[in-house]
Amino acid sequence: IPVEQVRNFSIIAHVDHGKSTLADRLLELTGAVKKNSGKSQILDSLQVEQERGITVKAQTASLLYDYKDKRYLLNLIDTPGHVDFCNEVYRSLAACEGVVLLVDANQGVQAQTVANFHLAKSKDLTIVPVLNKVDLKNADPDRVCLELLTLFSIDPDTVLRISAKFGTGVENVLQEVIERIPHPQADRSKHFRGLLFDSWYEQYRGTLNLIYLKDGQLNVGDEITSHLTNKSYEVKSLSILTPAETPIHQLVAGQVGLVGCNMKNSKESIIGDTLHLKNVKVEPLTGFKPQQPMVFAGVYPADQAQHVALRTAIEKLILTDSAVTLTPDSSPALGQGWRLGFLGLLHMEVFCQRLEQEHGAEPIITAPSVTYKLKLKNPKLISTYGEHTIYLSNPTHFPNEKDVEEYFEPCVKGTIVTPTEYLGDVIALCVNKRGVQQSCSNIDDLRIMIKYFLPLSEIVLDFHDKLKAVSSGYASFDYEPLGYHSTDIVKLNIHLNGNPVEELSRIVHKTKVNSVARDIAFRLKETIPRQMIQIAIQACVGSKVLARETIKAYRKDVTAKLYGGDVTRRMKLLKQQAEGKKKMRSIANVRIPHETFISVLRK
Ligand code: GDP
Ligand code: MG
Repeated sequence: IPVEQVRNFSIIAHVDHGKSTLADRLLELTGAVKKNSGKSQILDSLQVEQERGITVKAQTASLLYDYKDKRYLLNLIDTPGHVDFCNEVYRSLAACEGVVLLVDANQGVQAQTVANFHLAKSKDLTIVPVLNKVDLKNADPDRVCLELLTLFSIDPDTVLRISAKFGTGVENVLQEVIERIPHPQADRSKHFRGLLFDSWYEQYRGTLNLIYLKDGQLNVGDEITSHLTNKSYEVKSLSILTPAETPIHQLVAGQVGLVGCNMKNSKESIIGDTLHLKNVKVEPLTGFKPQQPMVFAGVYPADQAQHVALRTAIEKLILTDSAVTLTPDSSPALGQGWRLGFLGLLHMEVFCQRLEQEHGAEPIITAPSVTYKLKLKNPKLISTYGEHTIYLSNPTHFPNEKDVEEYFEPCVKGTIVTPTEYLGDVIALCVNKRGVQQSCSNIDDLRIMIKYFLPLSEIVLDFHDKLKAVSSGYASFDYEPLGYHSTDIVKLNIHLNGNPVEELSRIVHKTKVNSVARDIAFRLKETIPRQMIQIAIQACVGSKVLARETIKAYRKDVTAKLYGGDVTRRMKLLKQQAEGKKKMRSIANVRIPHETFISVLRK
């Protein structure tokens, strides 16, 4: 198939607007899968995706379609719509010339639609706007067309109207993809040059790389070299995804294919790398900027005996999700573990769910936190850290307040689309989360788009859930990073009988520290069992106690065995007991059960 008859495109949409359903219809139409094969959402192959109804990993399918007496090769790349999986969206778009922007004709433009549109626009991709679910009774395509016009200047005459569920108008989508989206600028006469844009790990075959061939051709047996690592590999297998894996002996420019070449791990198969033939120098392809992790959490085996198994499982999973970062960490209470970095909260949840489902691991996950930036003023400290500014996500490493000149925290620009009637509650939520309103505009007379400047630490915990709760599920949210901004944070320490328990400490904004202190003290009181000694729980900042709770001691009646009688003997025993208590207190021999740590550390 000549390059002129190749199209590479993605479907992008807000969650639930029908991407996967449309992808299924396109696969059926092109004969890639049989109609009514009974399996819905063919591209959502992971268990977690089927369960949550979201797409996590971008999947690819190569389709053949005959149109106007020509046979076209259409490479469809399904992308996750969620903000947390932007990495997957970016990497899919790097291999495309155009996108189908899918919008629910009932729900209209949502926060993620806005983000997706701007992303595609910034990459100069051709946008084919499509309204889905026109079969719904409440669908109002004319109103949504107007929204597209108002927000994105999209000409209503160019907007397609379909029902992915019933297949109405779907054929037209394929034809418009061919008509409107340009073919790739691929040159088959040149030397091979390919963009590695996804990779995953399989138990028996090792790492498999998804490659977009920009130039030339690639054959089984060729020797290829990574531009970034300069290592060379023999191509062991080539296949295209139709979407079932179909082995072939050659890939040509314009195609997207799966390359097996015995790369061992994610250090060797680097997303965004350019591959070329061994000893043939080429200009590297401009890949895409990898996203930085924004949310961190500690992951510990429930039992240290599972340490090695858990590490193996995490490493394997990271191969399929290169956005996750991993550093070793340890906690006196939870043992040896790791600190993992994620792109967002859903990203973290999905990762942990996959750890359980695909690898049978059941780790303890601590509450997520963000990375703060600290500007130091103490020259001595600067020399130990070797830097004027340090990055910090673990409260254990929090320096002395007097050594810090200024604190910074990561912030985001949040876009919220909400029906007008919930505006009051949505604004109250944003204010409670330390948000600052930046703009507010009517999408139409029913819905409003507001933009907020928000600290990331406030949204990683429960912002999305709360937003859904105050808007009966109707408001949608998306965010983009805005970098670091000056802030006022403190380290909240937890003391048990006057002794700090380091792993219970956390970094909190000054305005929130009182309520967090009360909450932790209360949870400790609820979960630490009564013991031989009284336990004083204190939540402090510096020497100031912000919240306290007390767990009363059992009163062990040491004199019960003595039947009245000798008063001096009785007094002596009581004195001994009091001394014993004092001793226990001074060494703070408080037994804190494992569950207490889990309950406080876990969100
Ligand atoms: P995704 O999150 O964008 O992949 O959305 P899905 O394809 O999973 O679809 C979300 C829900 O919308 C599913 O329950 C689909 O059955 C439903 N859906 C998708 N397309 C249509 C359509 O054209 N009409 C109707 N009525 N429902 C649809
Ligand atoms: Mg989906």
